[in-house]
Amino acid sequence: MAFRLAQGGARVWIIDKKSQPARGTTSISFAWVNANEKTPRDYFELNYTGLKEHFRLLEELSGRRSWLKLGGNLEWAEDEAAQDKLCYKVNRLHSWGYTVQWREAAWLNEFMEPHVVFPSPDTSVAFFSEEVWVDAPQLTNALIDLARKHGAQLGLGVAVESIETKGGRVAALRLSNGERLPIDAVVNAAGAEADHVAALLGLPLPLKLSKGLLIRLAMKEEAPLGRIVHSPLINLRPAGSRHLLVHHRSVDEKLENDSRETAGSLCQELLERARQVVPALNAASVEDILVGDRPVPKDGRSCVGAVSAVPGYYEAVTHSGVTLGLLIGRLLAQEILTGEVEALISPFRPDRFARR
Ligand SMILES: Cc1cc2nc3c(=O)[nH]c(=O)nc-3n(C[C@H](O)[C@H](O)[C@H](O)COP(=O)(O)OP(=O)(O)OC[C@H]3O[C@@H](n4cnc5c(N)ncnc54)[C@H](O)[C@@H]3O)c2cc1C
Repeated sequence: MAFRLAQGGARVWIIDKKSQPARGTTSISFAWVNANEKTPRDYFELNYTGLKEHFRLLEELSGRRSWLKLGGNLEWAEDEAAQDKLCYKVNRLHSWGYTVQWREAAWLNEFMEPHVVFPSPDTSVAFFSEEVWVDAPQLTNALIDLARKHGAQLGLGVAVESIETKGGRVAALRLSNGERLPIDAVVNAAGAEADHVAALLGLPLPLKLSKGLLIRLAMKEEAPLGRIVHSPLINLRPAGSRHLLVHHRSVDEKLENDSRETAGSLCQELLERARQVVPALNAASVEDILVGDRPVPKDGRSCVGAVSAVPGYYEAVTHSGVTLGLLIGRLLAQEILTGEVEALISPFRPDRFARR
């Protein structure tokens, strides 16, 4: 967003209380860019356009894209009931114009993923070839560089402590370094802490944070996986040539629901599950344990745009922020600069939450 605002001629400050960019949830993300599991239709459209926005930026930057990792995503089911559910999803996505094909496991083992163990050689696997993953910190840093080329200023290690208003509209930020920054507009993009920033203006922003656990595996050889994999047991993706990232919602649920389960104790479970699907990971070791909070607005939908109770105050808070960040950034910058609200984001306005 800072890039798009600065590109559009605004004078922009990027303020983050962390001493480096992309040290919030963005550094603890599976970073799968997709509209695969997004319903209803308006949220699907937002996410699908979000996925396409990554390619739009790529084109704009003439193909420089070290953060964008192609290869698609494979998904299969464990039993008949789950397979029916997967078929239903594939048919729905297909009818909504999403790219998805079926591939046989034996074919995938021969041509795409020799190390993955599927339930049987004739298992039908859904292949979502358009989906990508991104190196989210690298993308964030690239966007900050672009914003700075357009004149944006970066304030790291500085917290926003209060937001002053004048005549009801935002007028200045008070920062933890003592500085007072006069402003015409402020975007609350504080992720899992966005409710605290909204509270600086006396506004409730209802969030339902959801904990997630990822492990990063390191190996001496080339990683035995070429793309994102969603198996019934475990989700995996490459994370550089000798690393993989591993995650599963069912393990996150244990972390959320059972206070005896710690991230450390659940790592072994993730590792064992990963080895069942990719036995070549027997020699891999856990290099990092990452626990983060998904910034999810209470109704599960993105929260993007002006808050009419306080002119000049905007919110950009969402789950799937890696998928959506580029698109939300461009559309919100357009709203701030021109007042024009794109139809795509109109179902996701912050004013749906009761304020004051
Ligand atoms: C386990 C896990 C898996 C995920 N998988 C995916 C996925 O596959 N695909 C996908 O699209 N999304 C995924 N997500 C969600 C995605 O990562 C987040 O939606 C996204 O990273 C949110 O980015 P953000 O910039 O809004 O928040 P953050 O990255 O958290 O950034 C917010 C920043 O605000 C700063 N801040 C807060 N308060 C203040 C203040 N008062 N003053 C100054 N700075 C402040 C913080 O320091 C922080 O750096 C996942 C999340 C998790 C946890």
